[in-house]
Amino acid sequence: MTTTKTTCPYCGVGCGVLATQQADGSVSIEGDPNHPANFGRLCSKGAALGETLSLDDRMLYPQVEGQRVSWDNALDLVAEKFVDSINEHGPDSVAFYVSGQILTEDYYVANKLMKGYIGSANIDTNSRLCMASSVAGHRKAFGTDTVPGCYEDLEEADLIVLVGSNLAWCHPVIYQRIAAAKEARPEMKVVLVDPRRTMTADLADIHLPINPDGDVALFSGLLVHLSKAGVLDADYIENYTSGFEEALTRAASLSNEQLVQDTGLSLDAFNEFYSLFENTEKVVTVYSQGVNQSDCGTDKVSAIINCHLATGRIGKAGMGPFSITGQPNAMGGREVGGLANMLAAHMNIEDENHRALVQDFWNSPTMPHQQGLKAVDMFQAVADGRIKALWIMATNPVDSMPDANFVQDAIKNCPFVVVSDVSETTDTVRHANVKLPALAWGEKDGTVTNSERRISRQKAFLEPPADAKADWWHMAQVAKRMGFEEGFDYRNCASIFREHAALSTYHNDDSRDFDIGALSTINAKDYDDLAPFQWPCRAGEKVSETRFFSEGDFYTPDRKGRFIPIASKPRQVTTEDYPFVLNTGRIRDQWHTMTRTAKTARLSSHLAEPFCEIHPDDAERLHIGDADLVALSNERGTIFVRALITDRQKPRNLFVPLHWTDQYAANARVDILFASVVDPFSGQPALKNVAVTLERFQPTQYGFLVSKEKPDFGCTPYWALAKTEGGWRAEFAVIKPVDELSIFGNTVLGDTLHDSPQVYNDKQSGDKRAVWFKDGKLHAAMFLAPQPVIASRRYLTDCLLQDFETPLSRHEVIAARPPANRIEKGGMVCSCFGVGANEIINATASGCHTVKAIGERLKAGTNCGSCKGEIACLLEKHIVAITDVAS
Ligand code: SF4
Repeated sequence: MTTTKTTCPYCGVGCGVLATQQADGSVSIEGDPNHPANFGRLCSKGAALGETLSLDDRMLYPQVEGQRVSWDNALDLVAEKFVDSINEHGPDSVAFYVSGQILTEDYYVANKLMKGYIGSANIDTNSRLCMASSVAGHRKAFGTDTVPGCYEDLEEADLIVLVGSNLAWCHPVIYQRIAAAKEARPEMKVVLVDPRRTMTADLADIHLPINPDGDVALFSGLLVHLSKAGVLDADYIENYTSGFEEALTRAASLSNEQLVQDTGLSLDAFNEFYSLFENTEKVVTVYSQGVNQSDCGTDKVSAIINCHLATGRIGKAGMGPFSITGQPNAMGGREVGGLANMLAAHMNIEDENHRALVQDFWNSPTMPHQQGLKAVDMFQAVADGRIKALWIMATNPVDSMPDANFVQDAIKNCPFVVVSDVSETTDTVRHANVKLPALAWGEKDGTVTNSERRISRQKAFLEPPADAKADWWHMAQVAKRMGFEEGFDYRNCASIFREHAALSTYHNDDSRDFDIGALSTINAKDYDDLAPFQWPCRAGEKVSETRFFSEGDFYTPDRKGRFIPIASKPRQVTTEDYPFVLNTGRIRDQWHTMTRTAKTARLSSHLAEPFCEIHPDDAERLHIGDADLVALSNERGTIFVRALITDRQKPRNLFVPLHWTDQYAANARVDILFASVVDPFSGQPALKNVAVTLERFQPTQYGFLVSKEKPDFGCTPYWALAKTEGGWRAEFAVIKPVDELSIFGNTVLGDTLHDSPQVYNDKQSGDKRAVWFKDGKLHAAMFLAPQPVIASRRYLTDCLLQDFETPLSRHEVIAARPPANRIEKGGMVCSCFGVGANEIINATASGCHTVKAIGERLKAGTNCGSCKGEIACLLEKHIVAITDVAS
């Protein structure tokens, strides 16, 4: 058995992972106790990494128009098509759309090829959808894209303000670090600013259910309050900043009435929060997508930073604004300039000297003089024919971009599309002319940077399957075929890293924050063994700084931090025709468009179908019951999802998770509903605030299926698939009534049901049930009803793993409930130990009234801890988790 130290490929926390190959070929996963991001912790997604390594669905060979070809053929064609387009229509007729999932070395090569050799800045990334507004806010205030603090600050703070950040589900290890700090120091306070009462509210002393995009008003009001309270740091403002008076005057122009109207909060709520902020020196304000994914995202970031600059609470232990990125290497992409409006090594594309410096360092033939197309504009240019050759790497814009159907059509109609990916069947890959098989996690080698500027190695511990190759290799090979042999003669990722480090220090002299020059001559062995470190890491300096700006020294021309004057102008999106505000986000156990996390039954068991959170008043008015299906629509399309009625949601506000694609549900790609509205500074799309209608969707019959085989529901208007330990489970609904389950069963399961089923038909209720057995095992069970099917999903999926030797035991499956001597576990809460909601509720009846007591009795929450918030909710309300609302 060998253990490899590597890094989790999911979120921006950047946890260290120990991956150990077992004798049977499986890989066991543990948190790295020595990694400073997680000190051994992992969340449910990280802990399940070993279950995502199968080759199911892997792209294994290069393909052109669906036919397997050699690497030479594929690469020659890509180079030829790009060169043809550039020769005929100019360098801006081609584009790269890359991803925060690729490694820094991949990103570096992509950026160098597009900007330094092709001569266009048309390289953008899915990180544009994630944190571009934070980048813009940092650059406006600091003159560079720096996260000033580190994770330790979150433990040392006395007040943590979480803005638009559901840490409990989206950055669970950071949530756990804060929870542990709060347990050790109960006087630590947490304020959650979020329209929804997310699972993170469990940690919060105060929850402010703010209106969407009310954050600028909230933090403008705070700046005025701090000024009136006399707690500003006059010395810091005077010595290290500029523009304070104008920013304060602009903030003070906001009346109390407007403050209340824009935020939807009461003056009492403000006063409680404002006074906490006023009276607490050590404050960290953490923000992520709820701030960034907005048409005023950059202004929100500026409003937050203004408050920290005004109080001098920045760059010191336990203090500062703290942007947490969504993706594992969004920060690495920023460092190499893998965005259309950046250059490389934190240099500016608009700066003539920076352009000359980079071109000189690369010795490259060209350099664009202006920004390229940001993501939304890039796909608009694809749609209107300006871009004729597009290379998409490690991302799925057909699902993740706003106005996703428009983007899908644009890609479909683009003359030449290359997709490098690990997955064969994403909604984007199917539109590629050329498919290039990439390396997956476990096969890749390189570096990533997490949200606290910590660079860690991601290391290979598996052999690449078939023809899969690294992304940087794909691009270097194409570059050479385009005639750029000299600039791309890399032998391995260590040589790319050395060049990246050397560029960071080239003519730097502390004119730029990003400097890892100490590593510019690192040899292959040291690169291989490189321990996680925070930048900067300058040549000749023994100890790196861990924080920035405690004593000014910003990267603006006068080295002063800039206050940004801003005005609150939340966008009123709802109309009479579209009266609901739709918000999106992640759920605990899925990642992005589910290409990896949906491979594991464990993660899929938590929330097995797409859903919409609806306030009880709205549900009652629209006659929507729990577990009904609902349709959300606007002029761009309609999606169908399951209703989840909860007072965690505000009235007239809805929430749908972003994960489901056409691979796992019939009509649940939520981003088809969002318009291409972007922040004017960052170009980041507003993916949290769009107007829709909501109505109950009434099919003729609702259905539930468990089966050994993967079902195919064809054109059925609603279905949602999830993997289980023994096969698959599916929710579905039909418009044309199904009379014969045995025929319908064979239709969706591809004629695999050879034996006659045991059936049960209740004429009075309209319930129909059919169960197929094969060799003493359950092969499939299908349930249909005029109302949402009442069945224990948990029991039925467990049945796929059991033996059914006797007729009596087989009848129990038809009942769709466990027999009287077995507990009905309920929806999955703790996926590590398979503990269900009913088990937790039962334990409360026998005296377990704390999360700790539940952990001691059932083990739930004692491994990764990601479910602790849900356990706390159950303890509080004894409500059944949403996965089994119908059971
Ligand atoms: Fe991975 Fe979870 Fe850590 Fe994020 S918090 S890096 S998903 S283990």
